[in-house]
Amino acid sequence: MRRLGMAIVLILVLITGILAGCTTPASQPQPAQSSKDLSTDVLVIGGGGAGLVSAITAAENGANVVLVEKMPAVGGNTIISATGITASDTQLHKDSGIPFTVEDHYKRTIETGKGLADEKLVRILVENSSDAYDWLVSLGLSYKIQSAEEPFWIVPTEGHYGAELIKAYQAEAGKHKNLEIKLNTKATELVTEEGKIVGAKVQGQDGEYVIKAKAVILATGGLNNAPDMIAEYNPNYKGVHAEMTTPGPTGDGIKMAVEVGAKLRDMDLFQMRPLSSNGNWYRETIITEEGKGGILVNLDGDRFVDETMKIWDLASEILKQKEGTAYIIFDTDVYDTKDGKKAFDLGKGIKADTIEELAVQLGLDPAKLKDTVDAYNAGQDPFNRKAMGKITAAPFYGVKTLPSSHYTMGGVSINENAQVLKEDGTTIEGLYAAGEIVGGLYGAGRVAGNNTLDDIVFGKIAAKHAIGK
Ligand code: ADP
Repeated sequence: MRRLGMAIVLILVLITGILAGCTTPASQPQPAQSSKDLSTDVLVIGGGGAGLVSAITAAENGANVVLVEKMPAVGGNTIISATGITASDTQLHKDSGIPFTVEDHYKRTIETGKGLADEKLVRILVENSSDAYDWLVSLGLSYKIQSAEEPFWIVPTEGHYGAELIKAYQAEAGKHKNLEIKLNTKATELVTEEGKIVGAKVQGQDGEYVIKAKAVILATGGLNNAPDMIAEYNPNYKGVHAEMTTPGPTGDGIKMAVEVGAKLRDMDLFQMRPLSSNGNWYRETIITEEGKGGILVNLDGDRFVDETMKIWDLASEILKQKEGTAYIIFDTDVYDTKDGKKAFDLGKGIKADTIEELAVQLGLDPAKLKDTVDAYNAGQDPFNRKAMGKITAAPFYGVKTLPSSHYTMGGVSINENAQVLKEDGTTIEGLYAAGEIVGGLYGAGRVAGNNTLDDIVFGKIAAKHAIGK
């Protein structure tokens, strides 16, 4: 699972804000108090994982760096990351004798993306994962291999994954006097001179001004909090909810890049979570487990779909229902599975001794829900569901779902130097991108944890190329 509950997230964001002093680390120069234009070597837009890594890398290589973050705290969706980092052939793998090779990593990434990912970028990603791991260890973080069955994930030995990561990045950023982090500062437009990107217009607490830079790195994340943009790029997801995101990822960087001629790719591809609410997503096993899973009913108390269909299609079918929502209805047999109890707890579900009582508590028509469940139990199924179960073991449970985008697969096209590309394949001089804003790394499916890796790998590549290292 990548994301945690929104309540936890907000607390983490607040804590991070406090840690950041809500302005800049004490050792760094104070932000300009006037609306005067600024000048620097590298301007990084966005203070999630990719932005912080880019900024640190440029600063440790001697460049002057300004990072602008529109929120009151850094962290982005990276801070709610709840999976480890996917990495191969690390020292951990060597020491533990549990192999996960670079080739395994490459194959898994390409296969998960259904062959649609950019092979060149994936190759760079996997070949740099061991170095990325070493770098995290050098920041003081400590990891273990998740398990012999899941050797691709290295997970932190303690603490909440995303929060620990951002804390470590912030501490590292604070060591560099030549790196200034400006919070509450939103980039609104890239500034161009003779076809080259030379900075960005920003809106800070002290007004609007321009930050001039020799290079700009876009690290603004994805579209997960931009439901209208998601629907524009993929009408199947009209009405998508924003349950799985912090507020910052609203596609700003994508819009700014398009305005200067950037080529986008894979913009119709999103990692959808059909079963999600309250900042969590629930494993589809609670509706797909053969002979056991529950059903989905809409606000009229009707089933409307083969619940076992592909999850991105399922998300779209739920979004077509009233209020773009449905209830997951299941019985004790499903509740007793690990995923059932988890979904019930995280989704703040409702429990009742009879289906009619459950319906009343969920605000559904009791007779209707009883008919729907009876029909399902009798094997009546207009949707050709592959494996039918029974919902007969009391008590019964209902959890509301609000399908959400968990990860934006599409974004700006980049080359192996993380330079942003135009439609004709040439580069936009002075413009780089790293992190979730980049399209093409994952194609139609993402191995969880690869995104944290790509923040590091392409954040570093972007920063180094931007300063000629
Ligand atoms: P990634 O993993 O790619 O770093 P995140 O979601 O972790 O993505 O971080 C993206 C960050 O970019 C968020 O903190 C978000 O608030 C910030 N951001 C988005 N748009 C802007 C903008 N226009 N100006 C400044 N910061 C922005």
